[in-house]
This record gives sequence, C-alpha cells and structure tokens, in this order.
Amino acid sequence: MKRNIAVFLDRDGTINEEVGYLDSLEKLKIIPTAYEAIKLINLNGMKAVVISNQAGVARGFFTEEFVHTVNNSLLADLQKKGAIIDKFYYCPHHPKEGNGVYLQNCNCRKPAPGLLLQASEELNIDLANSYFVGDRFIDMETARKVGAKGILVKTGYGEDLLQDDGPDTATPENTPDFIAADILEAVQWILKDRKNSK
Ligand SMILES: [Mg+2]
Ligand SMILES: [Zn+2]
Repeated sequence: MKRNIAVFLDRDGTINEEVGYLDSLEKLKIIPTAYEAIKLINLNGMKAVVISNQAGVARGFFTEEFVHTVNNSLLADLQKKGAIIDKFYYCPHHPKEGNGVYLQNCNCRKPAPGLLLQASEELNIDLANSYFVGDRFIDMETARKVGAKGILVKTGYGEDLLQDDGPDTATPENTPDFIAADILEAVQWILKDRKNSK
C-alpha cells in the first residue's frame, strides 16, 4: 500500500498569529495565506497534520478542553474556505511545570518526535519523504529526527530567531532546509521539491 506524504504544520506562529499563550478565542487570528497554503496541500494529495506544543496546559493557563475548542474553531474557519486539516496533535506536558500527568519528560513535546511517530502509524505516513513547516528551530529539529525536511517560516518567532540574539540557538541539527516568508511560500517550495525528487 502506498504511504502518505505529510506536511506537518506547527500551529501558533505558522497557521495563526503567535500571541504568546493563546488563552482566548478572540486571540485566534489565522494568517491570511494559510487558507491557500493548506488547500494546496490538500489538492496535491498530501496530509495536512498539525503538531503543536501546548505547555500552557501544564502551566495552568488553559485546559485541554480549551485546546480542542481552539483547534475546532481553526478547523471550521479553514474549512469554510475549502482548506482541510487532516488531524491535530498536541503535547500538553512540560518537563518542569505542572502537576500530575502534565509534569513529565514526555516523548511528545517537540523537539521529541513522538507525535510524528504516532501520526505516521495512524495516517500511514512516510516520514522520510515528509515535511515540517514551523516558526522555531525546535520544529526543524523535530523534522530532522525522523528524516523529514524542515521549512522555517518568518512569521511568528521565525523572523526574530534569524537574528543573532534570537530566542533559540541555531545548531547543525536544526538548520532549515529552506527559509520561507510564510506558510504559503513554504508549501510552494515543497511542491517544487517534490517534483525535483521524482
Ligand atoms: Mg510556533
Ligand atoms: Zn508531551
């Protein structure tokens, strides 16, 4: 059986604007080019899969139920313009903050690859030929761990961390395969890359 190619998408700063902790629905603002970008993923037979760290749950800023509310709202809004997210995955944990099950060194908090491995099983994804689009170096590192290509977008934290004093440290493990202005340019690069590798 032919395996699926996925474009894994970070959520905050990549599909919707980065607002610190997204703790109310009014703060959910979709980046305008995300509709066309996700539609292009759909039309080209790839899976659009959201992979998000939501440590605001562990920190007690919002509940898992609220994460679902935001994801459902995002899904509905995108769907109105014909853009489909195939599945959402998120990590609610933090290694140092939170209580009970939320306080743990899990294998699903990016840059750990746990959620990609889970998606690969559930959606029959060929990880080594897939892509990760995100606004942080941890997104690139997550991609690298499963042999996928990483595309860094300049929206969200992306622009800042390309400066020398940015919030993340660049290492050989998290170097992007491509740097794009936004999610749409990232997907356009992916489509070209797929053509070239056939
Ligand atoms: Mg982000
Ligand atoms: Zn986790």
